[in-house]
Amino acid sequence: MTKLHQYRGRFAPSPTGPLHFGSLVTALASYLEAKSVNGQWLVRIEDLDPLREPPEATGEILSSLDAHGLIPDEPVRFQSRRHTAYQAAIEQLLKTGIAYPCSCSRKQLQAHQGRHPQHCRDGGRATKNQPFAVRFALSDELCQWQDLLLGRQQQLVQAEIDDPVILRKEGFFAYQLAVVVDDIDQGITDVVRGSDLLDMTAQQLQIYRALSAPPPRWLHIPVIVNKQGQKLSKQNHAPALDNRSPVENLFAALSALNQQPPQSLLRKSVDNLLDWGCTHWNRRAVHLTSQ
Ligand code: GLU
Repeated sequence: MTKLHQYRGRFAPSPTGPLHFGSLVTALASYLEAKSVNGQWLVRIEDLDPLREPPEATGEILSSLDAHGLIPDEPVRFQSRRHTAYQAAIEQLLKTGIAYPCSCSRKQLQAHQGRHPQHCRDGGRATKNQPFAVRFALSDELCQWQDLLLGRQQQLVQAEIDDPVILRKEGFFAYQLAVVVDDIDQGITDVVRGSDLLDMTAQQLQIYRALSAPPPRWLHIPVIVNKQGQKLSKQNHAPALDNRSPVENLFAALSALNQQPPQSLLRKSVDNLLDWGCTHWNRRAVHLTSQ
């Protein structure tokens, strides 16, 4: 049984490439948030889209985490092995009318400013013989929540126009549903992730509600950018982390999180760095660097 009052955090990378410095910073922040309150920290590989995931990426991510001493408290979970759970959630949502089949193309939706020309939300035209996606039916809402770092957040959610795909036409389950189903199933109390996912949060709150589960707390950390101001990512050719210099990498990650580690740590071990990080973790300092 999951004890809900106990802190349970996670790092949930999509294996689209090896771990780079930006993802190390996110992983480290979620690890330190959890460990500084004696919480549990899990790793979940969000391998939902085999077409975007080089087969070696998962192994590379896991060995990089290992080399940097970021060891999860439970066996790693793989979303590729969780299809039955996502399918069950989709069926539940379809049955209660909070999800609906949609065969509109992206072009059609664009041409109608996000409205569905086939009136999919109201049962629409028969989708038989046509490939269809399943979308989550959002409610119109000016959604508000408290981010543990960024403070009060407000986001407009527009029914129909914003309705996210939860099962893609190609048969792949979508991030927006899978992340919520797994965070509920794993009893995650706190989500620490990059602020590039901030915009997803209001929709996810509605999915929690639809699945009758309490949402976690959220903490979005500023994403690390390169010299051109772009997010570090595979698309921008962010280099893979060098697993032979974990101390230097962790030191740089602590510095990026504005924790001001003393230079003497550079002569210490990975465990020493992580211990120092846990003892001195100051989430408010992270805020300052993003201003
Ligand atoms: N898998 C997502 C990503 O790599 C992160 C999911 C999350 O933390 O909510 O962008």
